[in-house]
Amino acid sequence: MPAGWRLRAVLFLLCAGMAAASTALGQQADGPAVPTPAAGDRETFVAEMASRHGEGAGTAGARFDLMQRLVRQGQLYGDRAVAAMLLTPRHDFVPPGSRGDAYRDSPLPIGFGQTISAPHMVARMTSVLAVQPGQRVLEIGTGSGYQAAVLAHFTDQVYSIEIVPPLAARTADAFARMAAAGYGAYAGIRLATGDGYDGWPEHAPYDRIIVTAAIDHIPPPLLQQLAPDGIMVIPVGPPTVQILLEVRKRVAADGTVSVQRRDVYEGMGQVRFVPFTRAQ
Ligand code: SAH
Repeated sequence: MPAGWRLRAVLFLLCAGMAAASTALGQQADGPAVPTPAAGDRETFVAEMASRHGEGAGTAGARFDLMQRLVRQGQLYGDRAVAAMLLTPRHDFVPPGSRGDAYRDSPLPIGFGQTISAPHMVARMTSVLAVQPGQRVLEIGTGSGYQAAVLAHFTDQVYSIEIVPPLAARTADAFARMAAAGYGAYAGIRLATGDGYDGWPEHAPYDRIIVTAAIDHIPPPLLQQLAPDGIMVIPVGPPTVQILLEVRKRVAADGTVSVQRRDVYEGMGQVRFVPFTRAQ
């Protein structure tokens, strides 16, 4: 089936199975209802975003087209991941001067020497994480908040840590503003300012951990805070270029811990993230 039709089929399923899909997308007894895009095609999607958020056809249409391309390229897969990426307005997470570039597949500067990752990278990491409703997710490197926002469409248990205080404060404000403007799921994202190397022990264990800055090893505290059968994605390597690793933790009946590592791009691609820095 051509990718365009596959995406339409995903959207159709989300639309047709509205009750089932809203559970699948994070509607829990104790959590917020996360809406699904009621869209069978581009036109319906654009109309749906206009009625829900008053979003213009330009951004909604460009987002639909980008996600369709990422599905075709194999960077974005899984119904929930497709829906989450479609629902997250990337143009609201980039500096005002870059809004016109928000739906190009490239990283963009967000100030403080940091960047918002390229859409294909967020799509791939999100697809690999395959977060299930209600699961607890920890992100290291909040940055613009875009990745955390995408994750908030899967579960109401998103935790994120940012080391640059003014950036953390700006993103907290942005979430509050967007939550008030109809993106209710973003109000539930829990943010901390500090060095994420040591994780966030108070809320551990995490079913999923995502690291969005480059580091030359897997921080042991993060591995420790990963739940049994949990999945971590992390770019590992020197500052110049890294391998995107999927790390799975298993705990045997006798308590023996084993860790499996897989190169997400299977030797076919390297990645380039901003450096993971450490508190002084
Ligand atoms: N996920 C972000 C990507 C931002 S780039 C987004 O969607 O926009 C990575 C971020 O990691 C930067 O904001 C950087 O300041 C932050 N970072 C680097 N080292 C860190 C650390 N030790 N703890 C927490 N955040 C860190």
